[in-house]
Amino acid sequence: MRKKIIAGNWKMNKTPSEAVALINELKPLVANDEVDVVFCVPAISIIPAMEAAKGSNISIGTENMYFEESGAYTGEIAPNMLTDVGVKFVIIGHSERREYFAETDETVNKKVLKAFEHGITPIICCGETLTQREQGVTIDWIRQQIKIAFLNVTAEQAKTAVIAYEPIWAIGTGKTATSDQAEEVCAAIRGCIAEIYDDATAAEIRIQYGGSVNAGNAAELFAKADIDGGLVGGASLKPEFGNIVNYNK
Ligand code: PEP
Repeated sequence: MRKKIIAGNWKMNKTPSEAVALINELKPLVANDEVDVVFCVPAISIIPAMEAAKGSNISIGTENMYFEESGAYTGEIAPNMLTDVGVKFVIIGHSERREYFAETDETVNKKVLKAFEHGITPIICCGETLTQREQGVTIDWIRQQIKIAFLNVTAEQAKTAVIAYEPIWAIGTGKTATSDQAEEVCAAIRGCIAEIYDDATAAEIRIQYGGSVNAGNAAELFAKADIDGGLVGGASLKPEFGNIVNYNK
């Protein structure tokens, strides 16, 4: 039985002191031991967020990481900088990073491999545009993203990964995929993992849905057989996140 994982993606929001205040506000609201709860915060807020989250069920993750160990990569964050302060999760290949910061399936794969090398769990994002959905190529596109993201990843590593299926047309738009649309793609992703590895790996990997998840749609989405939680943007910055995490209460 896969444990649900619900992660907030804070994007470029909240100063470090605002992050501490928000965590203090949300801490009692997101207490649900049946779910893994992760707050992916901007890099500058990782350390104060860790302090603020101490003693709670919240894990602190972040939103990006570079695929080299160290060196002349101005502005980037190395994996050992994250592990040094206890980061366990990193979002990789979010569609905003692909669109604005030139991330590709190849850089996603390099980052995924590097995250595993350092014992950080990648939350690997994939998703189609509205045009691709209308052209009927969604599943082909997602399968390609998954196959490249997992190149040279072992089955043992893959079992511990988190995949976030995020249709780009649903991110920050208030347009959620229906639970059937989300389930169709999440089931196809699990099928693709079974093809790359085996049924046991596919049964263990956790697949989130992301795209305008809110307190009103979370329970229906998370009830689907292949949806193991959510990656939540806007609503993760509000008390509403507590209702999302407690979707099953
Ligand atoms: C996201 O940023 O990953 C996301 C899904 O955003 P939102 O929930 O705001 O659509």
